[in-house]
Amino acid sequence: MKTQNTLLANTGTTIFTVMSALALEHGAINLGQGFPDTDGPPGVVQAAADALQDGRNQYPPMTGVPELRQAVAAANKRFYGLDFDPNGEVVVTSGATEAITACLMSLLNAGDEVVLIEPLYDTYLPVVKLMGAIPKLVRLSPPHWELPRAELAAAFGPKTKAILFNSPMNPTGKVFTLSELEFIASLLQQHDAYAICDEVYEHLVFDGWKHIPLMTLPGMRERCLRVGSAGKTFSLTGWKVGYISAPRQLASVATKAHQNLTFTTAPNLQRAVAVGLAKDDAYFEGLASGLQARRDQLGQGLAKLGFGVLDTHGSYFITADFAPLFPHGFNGTDADFCQMMSAEAKVTAIPVSAFYESEAPRHYARFAFCKRPDVLDAALARMAAWIAGRKAA
Ligand code: PMP
Ligand code: GLN
Repeated sequence: MKTQNTLLANTGTTIFTVMSALALEHGAINLGQGFPDTDGPPGVVQAAADALQDGRNQYPPMTGVPELRQAVAAANKRFYGLDFDPNGEVVVTSGATEAITACLMSLLNAGDEVVLIEPLYDTYLPVVKLMGAIPKLVRLSPPHWELPRAELAAAFGPKTKAILFNSPMNPTGKVFTLSELEFIASLLQQHDAYAICDEVYEHLVFDGWKHIPLMTLPGMRERCLRVGSAGKTFSLTGWKVGYISAPRQLASVATKAHQNLTFTTAPNLQRAVAVGLAKDDAYFEGLASGLQARRDQLGQGLAKLGFGVLDTHGSYFITADFAPLFPHGFNGTDADFCQMMSAEAKVTAIPVSAFYESEAPRHYARFAFCKRPDVLDAALARMAAWIAGRKAA
């Protein structure tokens, strides 16, 4: 038989599915795949249930129901002072995953170069490659994940079409600073390139850090496609409602990609997300402060167990160095460690090397803290018992 698509045939199953399956197999507490274990705000869930009942269950408009497009535009204005026309500059998608793919499809021709920053989210590389585009990887390294400016500048060239990056960043918890964004903006101007800004964790920022969309910088509005996710903003990851905010010309071609990917997204969920985006500031502040407390709970707990816990300023995730747990060295990779911890401690995390294409750091694990406090305590207790048992053995 003839071969199927070579790239997809050679793409492995996503690490999040692999590790969630492992957690299930071992009855482990799943601090791997990033999803909250409590439902989103009751008003939003109720709005979705109500919306099912009133006869608007046929295909909604391709770019999204008007209520949600207006709500996305209003949120852009309220949080960042950005002006978007809900008619033509907002596209509702089935999750940020679709939004990112649609943005890449809308910009890239075969042979174009795309700058990507490692560690990177697992859908970026396969989609760039499927488009026949050429990824130019720039690597951030633990423990501080600083942006290597000279390397970033060197990754840009005459064939650069776009950069795709994520801030606040999964898995590092890095929030790009104004100075870093200014540097990226200058490269975009210099090379006449676009940016796809994966800002799904825009409202999950801690310690007084501020999320700054690249799009708010001078000259950037025309060059950026900004991607958000209701899954993250309302702790409803299964809903898969995302949105692209972009200038008219960029949004119109991204819509053509969306038209060929999913065309639309469940109308009741869209209408409920519109209700969510209209929530008062207290909701958004409470979301961040609640998560910050759980970051502290898990981070302090892991540090007490002997992990080298790295700073996290945003997102759902803590990255921790497990090497200090093994004074005589750990004979294996981060994937081995996460498998062992799932099987023996019955706690699952994600190996950070999964976010690198090759030659990754090998002694870091990513833990999701978007879980109930009692679940985090139970996970820490399991790890404590496991570590004590290993020391005694
Ligand atoms: N980008 C990043 C960095 C993510 O962590 C996620 C998480 N799921 C997504 C995109 C996809 O978001 P969605 O679930 O809305 O598709
Ligand atoms: N974004 C989530 C994470 O990083 C996972 C999403 C998925 O499973 N596709 O854990």
